[in-house]
Amino acid sequence: MDSKQPGKVVFIGAGPGAADLITLRGARHLAQADVVLHDALTDPALRDFAPQARWIHVGKRGYRDSTVQVEINALMVKHASRGARVVRLKGGDPSVFGRLEEELQALHEAGIATEVVPGVTAALAAAAATQRPLTRRGSGRSVSLTTAVTQAGTVQAGRRADTEVFYMAGQRLAELSRRLLAAGWPGDAPALVVSRAGWPDQIASDHTVATLAAASVLHSARPAVVTVGVGAAALAPEAAAVNPRSNLVPTREP
Ligand code: SAH
Repeated sequence: MDSKQPGKVVFIGAGPGAADLITLRGARHLAQADVVLHDALTDPALRDFAPQARWIHVGKRGYRDSTVQVEINALMVKHASRGARVVRLKGGDPSVFGRLEEELQALHEAGIATEVVPGVTAALAAAAATQRPLTRRGSGRSVSLTTAVTQAGTVQAGRRADTEVFYMAGQRLAELSRRLLAAGWPGDAPALVVSRAGWPDQIASDHTVATLAAASVLHSARPAVVTVGVGAAALAPEAAAVNPRSNLVPTREP
């Protein structure tokens, strides 16, 4: 590990849940890692891909303060400078609400080589779990991924695409509902909440923009994405019923 050659940092998207949603490329990099710096949302079963590596848990759920971010950057630089093959394992995809820009910047400034391996972001896992295609021919031409919570901690929402997927809104659904209505979404537009998408205990529930707050208790304290608009609609009532693994809770008002 203490070779003269500087190591490299590979950012890997672990996917949103179960370990088998990581890409083959990600798993191959993990198998060669000396050090793995991972977030809280990644599956402990991923350790089986890198039993040889030293696993360091960095970051907690929700907002990490900037001190923690500086420490993570310093850890990556330290290990890579010593020649270690470092994996920075992130939940979902590293490029989606993963603070990748800050970490890449720090490594670029330190002259350390980097690579990014994509992963399945939560919006895509939720669409797959519920069999709700995010794009629909003719009616769903655009998709946006939006964080509902701004850096200042306020909830914001607009109407920018046919299908919008909101991250980090799980604990603020009543506010999100109000913001969506204010942004011009019809109250009866479909809104789908999926928490722990990709895990065996994932839960999905159907609502409308106006009744979104009703999902709060069901998804309480679980990471969730909220899909609004065309891509939130079920294909047909029977389609949802034939997929018991989606744990779909039909709570949409008649
Ligand atoms: N990089 C991650 C997102 C990190 S931000 C990705 O690409 O998925 C954290 C937010 O992601 C959570 O607040 C939640 O909105 C969403 N999220 C992460 N894992 C999730 C999961 N398994 N199911 C539903 N939403 C999830």
